[in-house]
Amino acid sequence: MIREIVISEKNFEYDLYGLAKAFYPKDEIKISVGDGGITVPHSVPRPEAKNEVKRALYEKLCKETGRTLPWGTLSGIRPVKIARRLVEEGETAEKIKAVMKDVYMVSDEKASLAALIAKKEADILYVRDGGLIRPGSYSLYIGIPFCPTTCLYCSFPSYAISAYEEKGRVELYLNALIKEIKATADLMAGRPLTTVYFGGGTPTSLSPAELDRLLSAVEKHFPLKNIHEYTVEAGRPDSITPDKLRVLREHNVDRISINPQTMKDETLRLIGRHTRSYDIERAYAEAKEAGFPVINMDIILGLPGENLSDVEQTLSAIEKMAPDNLTVHSLAIKRSSRLNIEWDSYRDYLMENSEAHMDMAYRYAGNMKMEPYYLYRQQNMAGNLENVGFSAAGKEGLYNISIIEEAEDIVALGAGSACKRIIYGSEMNVFNRPKAVKVERCENVKDVDVYIDRIDEMIERKRELYSAPDHLA
Ligand code: SF4
Repeated sequence: MIREIVISEKNFEYDLYGLAKAFYPKDEIKISVGDGGITVPHSVPRPEAKNEVKRALYEKLCKETGRTLPWGTLSGIRPVKIARRLVEEGETAEKIKAVMKDVYMVSDEKASLAALIAKKEADILYVRDGGLIRPGSYSLYIGIPFCPTTCLYCSFPSYAISAYEEKGRVELYLNALIKEIKATADLMAGRPLTTVYFGGGTPTSLSPAELDRLLSAVEKHFPLKNIHEYTVEAGRPDSITPDKLRVLREHNVDRISINPQTMKDETLRLIGRHTRSYDIERAYAEAKEAGFPVINMDIILGLPGENLSDVEQTLSAIEKMAPDNLTVHSLAIKRSSRLNIEWDSYRDYLMENSEAHMDMAYRYAGNMKMEPYYLYRQQNMAGNLENVGFSAAGKEGLYNISIIEEAEDIVALGAGSACKRIIYGSEMNVFNRPKAVKVERCENVKDVDVYIDRIDEMIERKRELYSAPDHLA
């Protein structure tokens, strides 16, 4: 069905489109200019005009559908960003909640959640143990774009590793990556490194010898002595072996992510994972045995065919394993995923994530003595809710906060990775740190063979990004 939104002039179409999609995810949204619809005010500055226009549409759609949205008019990916800006201006939790509710129509519950997370993040970034980030600090991301197989919902730069192993292309990839590691370390010399994060893909798709080679290169070129966290995603239990875990520990990796997504065997099969729930329990036990100080587990709510009791079965199995972090995602149907491409084969499955599902996740996390510490949203998420990371006290995933909050530079290496460069203004926040005014980016190509061929160009892009001044003139 096509739904038309009429606005008095060509303005704010992108924001209105996102908001309308949140109410009508399956319909086509058309924005047209005309009379009798939403009026763009000219008596207020542009950000306020945008909020007014979004509130007008929100109220109209609430009336039309009889529904409200938990995050109100906020259609962007970082709803906590507004709350964190207010924390950095010294505002109280009460004031932050009031702004979230009055300006953005966020529910009571989500307004309190945003205020709580923003306060916790500011504490970690600027206060706890002297603050995570320091002048000029950065975090390092290294992407390994290989996995054992491709999951149904995947939209990441990831390829089945078997196809690349055949012609020695994994080795060529590592050669290029190590070249990028060395050149980038030279570029960042003298700046403090906060955290290191290996993601992808599934880094543990590599063999123990390949992992050893790669981690040795990072150790040789980057200053790891004073980092606060060293994470390797070992998302797929079918990629985890005691030998690989031993290599990671020998290189001082202190956080690992083992991601069940669900503990229901039928769903694991359906989403293209060649594992069963007992493989996940086996991998977790081996990681505990290897002595990782922090183990994270990811789950997805809204997977095809899963009802509330399936979600409870997953949460209850995770509660028994008792990881240190739990990250709860809402299924997002991404354009490049098989789920979207083969939509006709899956459209009849239940794919539901509701506030009842999220409440259950919050309850189980509470049982495990975890609190929410970071949060973000994506487009086309089941239930229009959030992705949220929970953690036991003091074990929060620090890289996650750094990247989501755009709190410092992210130097990202490997195919499909994206660097962020934070540009500061002259004003200081209440923590006596310069306020960020914008973020500049540069990306590496996604295709593995193109990345290998054009590695010098990828390095040059970084040189340009990080040699420019990080303060506005
Ligand atoms: S494990 Fe993650 S990166 Fe790999 S295929 Fe599945 S969703 Fe994609």
